[in-house]
Formats: sequence, structure tokens, C-alpha cells
Amino acid sequence: MTARRTRQHAGKRSDDACTSGVSRRALLAGGLAGAGVMLARRTAGAWLSGQGAPGTATVIEAPRLFDGLRIAVTDGARVVIRDGSIVAAGRAVDVAAPAGATVTRADDATVLPGLIDLHFHIEEDPAMALRQLAHGITAFRDPGEWIEVHEPLRRRIKEEALPGPRLFLTGPHIDGEGPAYPADSVVARDPEEARRQVHRAVDQGATAIKIYFRLPLASALAVIEACQARGVPSTAHLEILDARELIEAGLTGLEHITSFGTSVASPMQAERYRQAVLANNATRSDGRYALFADADLDGPEARRLYEIVTRKRPFVDATLAVFEVQPADTLPKGSTLSAATRVEGFRKMQMLTRRLHEHGARIVMGGHTEVPHAGRGEAPWRELELLTTAGLSASAALTAATSTAAAFLGKGGADLGVIRPGAAADLLVVNGQPDTDISAIRRTRVVMAAGRLVDLARLGTL
Ligand SMILES: [Zn+2]
Ligand SMILES: [Zn+2]
Repeated sequence: MTARRTRQHAGKRSDDACTSGVSRRALLAGGLAGAGVMLARRTAGAWLSGQGAPGTATVIEAPRLFDGLRIAVTDGARVVIRDGSIVAAGRAVDVAAPAGATVTRADDATVLPGLIDLHFHIEEDPAMALRQLAHGITAFRDPGEWIEVHEPLRRRIKEEALPGPRLFLTGPHIDGEGPAYPADSVVARDPEEARRQVHRAVDQGATAIKIYFRLPLASALAVIEACQARGVPSTAHLEILDARELIEAGLTGLEHITSFGTSVASPMQAERYRQAVLANNATRSDGRYALFADADLDGPEARRLYEIVTRKRPFVDATLAVFEVQPADTLPKGSTLSAATRVEGFRKMQMLTRRLHEHGARIVMGGHTEVPHAGRGEAPWRELELLTTAGLSASAALTAATSTAAAFLGKGGADLGVIRPGAAADLLVVNGQPDTDISAIRRTRVVMAAGRLVDLARLGTL
């Protein structure tokens, strides 16, 4: 899915995690928010800006450390940061705090890598990216938008000297004729045009390319091939193209669990769905729930998918939050499906996410910006929760949003998504234990981007 969402912001929800129990002075002092964050100034240092002078070390201490792959420390962790990079991390008893360092200590908390949102639509709302930054999202990919549309965000980051977020852009979707979202697409009428669009976007700075579902198969294959030639990942919103064929051809990743709909439906139902969507793009909003409600996730079609997934290990960005249906939800306008079918369709989407995970797919996290059951800027948190209700462990969900997400970024993600010496200092500290209770991810206490502390109180209300 993409854009064209109604701008129904949840208003200025007071964000408890960002405003409770912190003194005005602490906010001013460290740009920090969150109950009980303690700043210990060990020397007269540049701690007012939350950033040491070049060469000065910053230290973050918390009882627990999730390093992007696993919970690595439970009895006192220390991370040492200098010049935007992590220089040491581990148990506090093993890692010395350099003399003169600015120390941020958070009790009853866990330090983890900054989260990476792989499905963020900026639209005309650059402030949303900054609000998400205050929620711990230190990097995002916008999977289908003209690169120049991000200029206002870049300008604001520069003018206000903000620390991040990191932007990973793709350029517009490459779609076929009758594009689903004309404003966010380039139309390729044949494989040669598709190939040229890849080169144009990569030349302009795209670090991944997104295939859109009306692109004919031969053109989609040409995109995958051109991406391989340029060394950038390819990703796709499929629905009416068969995921199995494109994964087999080397597609790096897939956006939306619904991209697998026609790969798990019976061939007859899949073809009906394809024809309906080809005739009218809008039919997929009902059609995908009907397709999933009927799908047999143990049937021959699904088993053929699992076999390919196990062999090729694609990244899967399920974006469950944008499809979430709860039994009490009111039916969308114009829907002809029963509430029960929609609920069942969503349940199967979650189930398929789990099956793909079990069969070796590399699950990542995409929040999708504005989703039915999350407040403003909270879609990534909701996605993480839904990954766990789908059946992933909380720790696997965190991995999806950190080290695995960084891997899907390709070359640009090399130093992201992990806490280890040499990695970028994009960090997050939350109250509690998100590796066992994922909702703790909402209890943001400290966000650091490229070694600089983020002003949660200011950005968290944008
Ligand atoms: Zn999409
Ligand atoms: Zn989208």
C-alpha cells in the first residue's frame, strides 16, 4: 500500500513516555525526557547540547543491553560513544568509562540499537519523521516517492541542526500502465523502460528500488536484474504478480504480507483476484481480505512458496499494522465483506507472517506511517506488537527492526542496527525489557542519533 491516506492525526496525544515526571531543567539540560533519566556530569563538559566536543566521549549506562541480535547484558551495561560511533559496549564491569565522559544513566531500562522503519511514507508531512525519531526510529526507508519530496525534511534537519533521522530513498515506484498511485510512480511500458528507470533513480541517489504491482512480469524481472547490476536491493508490492517467481529471480525483499496473496490462494481464486484488480485497483482493499480468509496455508501453493523462501531467504516487510482489523472495527465505506471475513483475513495474514519467518524469511519492520490502530508516529511500535501477536518472539521482533532491517538497507546499512565497536551511535533506551515484553518499546527514555541526544520533548510533539 502507499500514500493517499487521510490525514487523520490522532491530535496532540499526550505521550506519557515522553513527558511524565521529568523536570524542566532536565529537559533543558540534556535534551532528554523520561522519568528518572539521570545525567551525571563528570567534568565541565558540553552536556547542554547533549553532544560532547569532538573527541569527547559520551557514555550510556543501563542494566540491560540488546545488541541487535540478542540480549547481551542483563546485569549492568555500558556503551561508550565518540564522534558519532560506538567505541566500546558490553558489561559495565568490562568496559571503562573514559575520564571526562558525559554519562547518561537509565535505571530499570534496556539499551538497544535505534529502530529502522523500512516502510515510511513522508508525503507532505516531514514533521512525522521527526516525531518518529523521538519514538526511537533513527533511520527510515521511504519505499516509493520522488526523492525531491524529502527536501523539506532535509532542509529542516540542516537548519535546526537536528540529529537525524537517516534517510534511505528509492525514488518513485516503478509501475505499469494504469498505475495505482500516479503521483508516486513512474510508468514503465516495457522492460527497457523499466531498466532505464532503475538507472535514473540510482543515479539520483536511490539506495533501493520498489516494483509496483501493475508492472508486467518481464519488466519486473528487468528491474531485479538492473538492481543487481547496480548493487542496490530490489523490493516490491506485488499482489497480482506471483511472489514465488520474483523471489526465484532474485528479488531482495517484499513489502506487505499481501504481496503473497496470489501465492497462497488457489490458482482459480488468484486469477479472479488478478483480473478484478487489473480492472479496478480499488477492488484489492476488500479482495485481499477475502483472498487470505480462504487461503490454505498448508496447501500445495503455500508449500511451494515456503520451499522457495527457505532457499532464497528474502526480506519480508509484512506491514501488518496497516492491514490490522479488530472485531469491533467499523467496516470501511463501500466494503461488501462481512466483519468476520475481514478479521479472518487479517488473522491469516499474521499466520502467514509467522510461517514465512519459520521457513527462513528475514522479517523486517515497516510501520507504514499512518495505520488504523496507532497514534501519530506510533505505527512502528504497533507493527512490532503485531509481529509478536503473529507469533514471533519479542526478541525476534527487535531483531527485525534493527540488525535485519539494516541488512535489507544494503551497503548503507553496514554500520547500523547493531551495538558493537565501530557501529554508528544510533541508540535507544527504553524502560523495562522490550526483549520479553515488546510494548516496553513505547517507553522511550533516550534516543541517540549519530552520537547526539534527541530532544524527545520537542520532537515528540510534532
Ligand atoms: Zn505498497
Ligand atoms: Zn506503502
